[in-house]
Amino acid sequence: MKIVVLKFGGTSVGTIKKIKKITEIIKNYRKKKYKVIVVSSAMKGVTNELIKKSRNISENFSDAEHDVLVSSGEQVACSLIAGSLIHKGLKSRSWMSWQVPMITKGSHKNSRIYQINKNKIIKYLKEGGIPIITGFQGINNEERITTIGRGGSDASAIILAKFFKAQRCIIYTDVEGVYTTDPNKLKKAKKIKVISYEEMLEMASLGAKVMQPVSIQDARLNRIDIEVKSSFINKPGTLITKRSNIINNKIITGISSTHNDSKVTLIGVKDKPGVAASIFKPLSINSINVDMVVQNISSNGKETDLTFTIKSEDLNKTKKIIVNNKNINFRKLIFEKGVSKISIIGVGMITTPGVTFRMFKTLANKKINIKVISTSEIKISVLIDKKNTKKALTALHNEFKLDK
Ligand code: ADP
Ligand code: ASP
Ligand code: MG
Repeated sequence: MKIVVLKFGGTSVGTIKKIKKITEIIKNYRKKKYKVIVVSSAMKGVTNELIKKSRNISENFSDAEHDVLVSSGEQVACSLIAGSLIHKGLKSRSWMSWQVPMITKGSHKNSRIYQINKNKIIKYLKEGGIPIITGFQGINNEERITTIGRGGSDASAIILAKFFKAQRCIIYTDVEGVYTTDPNKLKKAKKIKVISYEEMLEMASLGAKVMQPVSIQDARLNRIDIEVKSSFINKPGTLITKRSNIINNKIITGISSTHNDSKVTLIGVKDKPGVAASIFKPLSINSINVDMVVQNISSNGKETDLTFTIKSEDLNKTKKIIVNNKNINFRKLIFEKGVSKISIIGVGMITTPGVTFRMFKTLANKKINIKVISTSEIKISVLIDKKNTKKALTALHNEFKLDK
């Protein structure tokens, strides 16, 4: 069977007009003799609205009920797509992930799909049907509905492509592909024709919302090529594939940025083994994601300062946890809201010396102060004032000639 998995994101199913538009896309794959499996996200804004409702009940709304609540957004979108196809004379039906079933493990809000029972869908495809499956969710061994993290429909699509051995997996979204940086933040951003899993994973983890990081890990592990393209304009998009498929002479492939980060510094923490662990353990238990971590070299061998970043939405919770943590002592606690992390990413930097210098020099020339630095083999990240994000993006984009 020649199978294609088509995933539609929130904007692509955001209005009835858009749903009618994507039914045309689906029909075209049928004309090309593909068996089509559709995965849909919720209509734009719906998941956020549902989360807001739960928060109005409680800041600590039950995780299990949160999953039941937010998974409903996809149900609405899938039935509208299936209904629209039926209206056009095609055989289609919606499938909630639990009906397939797509089986997950892990905690609520953050599960992973690890098994798909293919029988019913294969039978339905053979009968000429077009299954429209809810993304972002599944069912666990206790028969509870689970969700797989924000933006998770991307991962649903890739796991479906893996289990059904699809020939193609296409992510339809509201931009024409993966760009050198967010095209909604920088007009000069350029569409990337081909990008490696490794670079895409870094870009996504460092803020490029266009693909969910977990989905790229899954694609990389299973060697699934992903095409990212627009659901509005029929133009070639971006191919995400293995490195050996790519000829690239660029040093830097892309730039990502985050917004809504906060910096936390503990001044005068004891410089002895186990201190960092006792600070981060309660944060991890409370699902607070700690990002950049820097510990200063102790000047007197007794005390040190520890800095890390978190999402601003976790700031209040973090404050409470640190202040109430009886296992640590410090002299002062400093919080800084409104910081942003800018990262340059590219496999080319492995073999090219001087990239760090060029990045720092470019920011210095624009009088942008660097607060924290972190690096890996293929990325350099710096923390700066949020108000300088656009200036930094523009300057770095120019420096590394990403618009060429
Ligand atoms: P969907 O609802 O289709 O899943 P998302 O909103 O999750 O779409 O992702 C698409 C958005 O990702 C774009 O509108 C764009 O603003 C943002 N984005 C961030 N970085 C990039 C990038 N490097 N290339 C393309 N889009 C990006
Ligand atoms: N609707 C979900 C979300 O907003 C999943 C997705 O968009 O992929 O996070
Ligand atoms: Mg998305």
